[in-house]
This record gives sequence, C-alpha cells and structure tokens, in this order.
Amino acid sequence: MEKLWAPWRIEYIARGDLDNDECFLCEKQKDTEHDDDNYVLYRGKFCYVLLNIYPYNNGHLMIAPYRHIGEFEKLIGDEFLEMMKLTKIATSAIEESMGAQGFNIGFNLGRVAGAGRADHIHLHIVPRWNGDTNFMPIIGETKVLSEALRGTYERLRPYFQNE
Ligand SMILES: [Zn+2]
Repeated sequence: MEKLWAPWRIEYIARGDLDNDECFLCEKQKDTEHDDDNYVLYRGKFCYVLLNIYPYNNGHLMIAPYRHIGEFEKLIGDEFLEMMKLTKIATSAIEESMGAQGFNIGFNLGRVAGAGRADHIHLHIVPRWNGDTNFMPIIGETKVLSEALRGTYERLRPYFQNE
C-alpha cells in the first residue's frame, strides 16, 4: 500500500509549499482563453480536467471541481457524478491512445497525505505500464517534459471533445 501511494508524494515535493500562493486550480479554470497553455483538456458543468505539469507518469491528469473546496465531504452529488464520468472517459482515452496497462486513481486529502494543494480537492489519474518505475529520471529534463506534455495533451484532448 505504501508503495502504491508513494507516487502522489511527488506533487508535494515538486510544488513545495504552495498553499499560501494563489490556488493554481482556480487560476487555470478562470483563465478560459489559454486552455492549451494550461493543458486544460475539458471543461464540464461542475468539474474540469487538466494535465498535471509535474507528472508522475506520462498521461498523469487531474479532475477538479470548479469550487475551491478542500474537504471530500463537501463535494456535492453532481460533482461526484461528473468526476466519475470524466474518470471513465480519461481512462479509456489513455488506454486507447497510450496503451496504458493499469491506473492509480485517487485523492490526496490533506497535506499530511501529500496534497500539494490541500484546499482545492482534485482526483489524480496516473496511467501505469509494466516497468515504468524509471520514468521520473527520464522526464526530469524540462525540455523532454514539456514535449511529452504537449504530445499527451494533443493525443487526449479529442476524446473529451466528443463529450
Ligand atoms: Zn482553488
């Protein structure tokens, strides 16, 4: 179990103490003109989908409600429902276009659990492949990372646009 959830900690390590800054999840959703630059894949009625720019693995994306809420219990039915619907689209899109063999899907609730942004809840979807444990050192290079992000974005976006 510890090994399974350790990947989430990268968010905390990479982003550091960001709870004092403006919430990036609110910032990106308000910036409606630059979905491409912000790697926003889809805007639903209650939630939106974006790539994690500090991915644990290729295709790592996040689904967040528009509302700036940190507690799981505060999610309303419509948000839950849309989140699950978008999770379904995301996993089949990643499976189909990237050949993912498995997924880690989950929330980091609270700083102690590794949330980089504990005050705005978000669901992580991390695709997994056999032998992918060496991925981080490879994409540690910024250039490789941004190219990988752009490619992943172009690849996944069409799946959401059909919604
Ligand atoms: Zn927020």
